[in-house]
Amino acid sequence: MSMHDENRSASARLGGLSYLNPAAPEPWASFIEQIERVRPYLGPLERWIETLKHPKRTLIVDVPIERDDGSIAHFEGYRVQHNLSRGPGKGGIRFHPAVTLNEVMALAGWMTVKNAAIGLPFGGAKGGIRVDPASLSKGELQRMTRRFTSEIGLIIGPDRDIPAPDVGTNAKTMAIMMDTFSMNRGGTATGVVTGKPIALGGSLGRQEATGRGVFLCAREAGKHQHIPLEGARIVVQGFGNVGGIAARLFRAAGARVIAIADHTATLANDAGIDIPAAQAWVAEHGGLAGFDGAGAIEIEDFWQLECEYLIPAALEGQITPERANRVRARVVVEGANGPTTPAADDVLRDRGILVVPDVLANAGGVTVSYFEWVQDFSSFFWTEDEINARLERIMVSAFDAIWQVAQEKQVSLRTAAFIIACHRVLEARAERGLYP
Ligand code: GLU
Repeated sequence: MSMHDENRSASARLGGLSYLNPAAPEPWASFIEQIERVRPYLGPLERWIETLKHPKRTLIVDVPIERDDGSIAHFEGYRVQHNLSRGPGKGGIRFHPAVTLNEVMALAGWMTVKNAAIGLPFGGAKGGIRVDPASLSKGELQRMTRRFTSEIGLIIGPDRDIPAPDVGTNAKTMAIMMDTFSMNRGGTATGVVTGKPIALGGSLGRQEATGRGVFLCAREAGKHQHIPLEGARIVVQGFGNVGGIAARLFRAAGARVIAIADHTATLANDAGIDIPAAQAWVAEHGGLAGFDGAGAIEIEDFWQLECEYLIPAALEGQITPERANRVRARVVVEGANGPTTPAADDVLRDRGILVVPDVLANAGGVTVSYFEWVQDFSSFFWTEDEINARLERIMVSAFDAIWQVAQEKQVSLRTAAFIIACHRVLEARAERGLYP
């Protein structure tokens, strides 16, 4: 498969324009509201709360490329370092036609919270380009990625800010970014990005890690809610690196994946969908459209399917109050970043539906990114079993710590995760003090 094809299918699998939900608030407004909900629990650290509402550094770059037909095209790119109090910036790069500064700011903020909630020694950052990668040739995509990397090269680096894949990017994108940064620096810097191919210092288990973390969180939530995975009905939105892999792990654990959706099709089969067959179809055709192992349903019917676990693993703003009122799942496990709006969170809580928040549920990816970064620094590589075992330990202990705070303070798992994370970030902020 060419890089162009891989990126095309990555973008197709991970969500296209049809997922955009005009009914949802702007992502940054949702993030600010989530921060405000933590205010009563911060004690003396409340003094520093404004820190979290002001991204530390925001870089907007023009990315001009020469198209294959000789014309010049300009794309707008971003790298936002939301907070660096606890360590270098960390967070992915998104290539998607709906990328905006507002969205990248929110995604960077969620990375700050995610990294702190899990206990990784990173701040939060995110970047992206407003582009449909499927509309570019292989050469155009490569030129755009290189120019973008050079432009944000002013602020990234192995000990400053470390990008990774996100929607519309993949290991190939990271290889180009690593090469470009290294060329500009005059020496190979493997640790500047994570999610790289194994041949360039990538980590075993990284590609699966986000989906694996989603699966582990569902399993842990199921223990508390007395929902055995065996026979549980699963509904998954997004069928790429997160949703597709989580679906496969659920099926392997004896659960029944009764509906899957991507930007090309929404499919259901009450008897359970053959996930490896669906994945093979997507690898060949770039999307679920045409896969005959399940029947087509309306997207609005998808949200009200009766199931044990609903896994939104596409884009933000999917579960609005209106949809939340119709959800008939017992647990929502957020594979995507920001899929549930704050108002919808309240509806789900009032209806007794448990939400395992993004900052915990999809943290498996950045956790193995951390392992990759550590392995690159030490030039010593671990086995896949070791990586999966460490990932499981970290995810389960983060889950337990967040669960306990939620019980103690009688708050949602999201607010509990934000309480733990904001304490860690603001304590670091306060200890460092203001410069000058
Ligand atoms: N893009 C992923 C996320 O949203 C991974 C980030 C990373 O590995 O740095 O968590």
